[in-house]
Amino acid sequence: MSAGVAPTRELWPAEFVYDGLGRPRRHAAVLVQVRPAPARVITVGSFAELREAHPGVAVGPARRVIAPPAVNAHTHLDLAHMPLTPGRYVDFVAAVVAHGRAGGRGLAAAEAGLAELAAAGVRTVGDIVTDEAVLTRLLSEPDLQGVAYWEVIAPDPADADARFDAVADLVRRVRPLERPGGVRLGLSPHAPHTVSAHLLQRLARFARSERLPLQIHVAEDPGELPLHRHGGGPLREAWGPFLAAFHPSGRTPVGLLDELGVLAARPTLVHGVHVDEDDLRRLQRAGCAVVHCPRSNAVLASGTFPWAAYARHGVSVALGTDSRGSCPSLSPVDEWGAALEVHGAAADPAQLLWSAVKGGHRALGSAPPKVLRGSLAADLVAWRYPGRWPPAGVRLPGAVGDVAAAPG
Ligand SMILES: [Zn+2]
Repeated sequence: MSAGVAPTRELWPAEFVYDGLGRPRRHAAVLVQVRPAPARVITVGSFAELREAHPGVAVGPARRVIAPPAVNAHTHLDLAHMPLTPGRYVDFVAAVVAHGRAGGRGLAAAEAGLAELAAAGVRTVGDIVTDEAVLTRLLSEPDLQGVAYWEVIAPDPADADARFDAVADLVRRVRPLERPGGVRLGLSPHAPHTVSAHLLQRLARFARSERLPLQIHVAEDPGELPLHRHGGGPLREAWGPFLAAFHPSGRTPVGLLDELGVLAARPTLVHGVHVDEDDLRRLQRAGCAVVHCPRSNAVLASGTFPWAAYARHGVSVALGTDSRGSCPSLSPVDEWGAALEVHGAAADPAQLLWSAVKGGHRALGSAPPKVLRGSLAADLVAWRYPGRWPPAGVRLPGAVGDVAAAPG
């Protein structure tokens, strides 16, 4: 029993403190009762005010950030063994396919990804899954929450019904493995150019009726725009036979998802680099969250995420690393640090911090953390960003991007 131990308090200062309530505070501190163990939070507030109110309390080392663990809202754990492959999107996708054919994906790779997440202190993840053994493993993992999204790629509408039946069958078999507080099952129709409109609609209706979360890659590469607008461009040139049955809608990728009724299922959209004002209004109206992956965008020269425009439209943004093939680590704290460097003065550091924690939980539908009086101090962690971004050979985009006005 700890009844005989005199209470000992400490003040933990940081440039940013986030308790999961409201916005992160700048130049703040956490007043902690460190003994008797376990250490518990007394209050969070301005460093100057807490220092004045508690003059005899020892002050701990200053930190950059004290916050709940960051969320990695989008990754592909089974690509953990893929080497970093900078280059164009179409070449990168070819490298992913070759890596899979060479046996580089699967459970062993996903285990390596899980170990990396654990070492980075990540407890909440959105993972894209292509292997049933990996799906089973994630749904059974006791120390993780978030969503395991089963990936669907089928651009030919002739395949839509058979693929839908296979997905519905998988959901029926696997769903009983879901456990309260653990990883949930979700679906990931890969992208609006790799899944036919008919299958996108069937999957979105199914997700709504079954309450399955959705995650969709969208507007990552500039080449998606001409493909959807008139059917041409670099994606058509590189993937002619694969896209033989793809017919352009004349819309933007986000506009197409909205017109098909897919946004009504409130999917989380990944990347969203090439969006216009009309797209942003549609996302805001539908209440869709977007996962920003700044390091992957730089490695694949995708362009710069229009951070300020998303903030202006009030669209909830999360952070994700994407796969090890386009990102040098699976740490969302590294992603946050890189986002600070990429966006500079265009982004509010406190808002980016919100995105890395609460934005991630919102995107995945998990319970966001709240650090209240009496909470365990261990619910808060000191974030360390080593500042190794960009790595050698990766050039950051020069200018901070913004969105184009809506056409018409
Ligand atoms: Zn991805």
